[in-house]
Amino acid sequence: MARYRGALCRLCRREGTKLFLKGERCMTPKCALTRRSYSPGQHGKRRAKLSDYALQLREKQKVRRIYGINEHQFRLYFEKAEKTKMVTGTVLLQLLERRLDNVIFSLGFAASRSQARQIVKHRFVCVNSRPVDIPSFLIKEKDVISIKSDEKKRKRLQEIIKLTKDRSVPEWLKVEPERLEGTVTRLPQREDIQFPIQEQLIVELYSK
Ligand code: SF4
Repeated sequence: MARYRGALCRLCRREGTKLFLKGERCMTPKCALTRRSYSPGQHGKRRAKLSDYALQLREKQKVRRIYGINEHQFRLYFEKAEKTKMVTGTVLLQLLERRLDNVIFSLGFAASRSQARQIVKHRFVCVNSRPVDIPSFLIKEKDVISIKSDEKKRKRLQEIIKLTKDRSVPEWLKVEPERLEGTVTRLPQREDIQFPIQEQLIVELYSK
């Protein structure tokens, strides 16, 4: 399935919340949602009451867009979560959090998840000293994630780290910015995910 290539800010406005898809710009007053906090399109300013189905669909789209994954992949994550004996919605979010591109973003080595995906695809990332170029790679407890780069790229990465330094690193990760290295101290728990997500709505949507 094709990746969305349209205006990213439009997605935030559609979901009515900041999805932080553009990195540094998202933290500034230039953020499109700050300037136009209504849905895009001709009828965007109208506030229609959403049906239960629409609410569930919007929640699913929001989460899918935060992590930048397509419908097919998202469904596969859901099916994987459903097969476990634990709470499906929680496992779904844990799987998404454990993606290597998300971990690179969370460690502050990228300004956005799409930039993190590029860093991974360009083979700058090693997990336990082995190069990994698969953004969906699932990290495990005690994994050590490092960035290998030449001097020029290292400088660029240090600039990104400066930009992201005010973003808090989740408690399940430990970062050593000088070494461009991070460690997974434990697997993420539901309470580690601070973004407002109602995963139960997604479970209800897919259980129809
Ligand atoms: Fe979303 Fe960032 Fe655009 Fe703001 S600047 S609307 S948070 S992508």
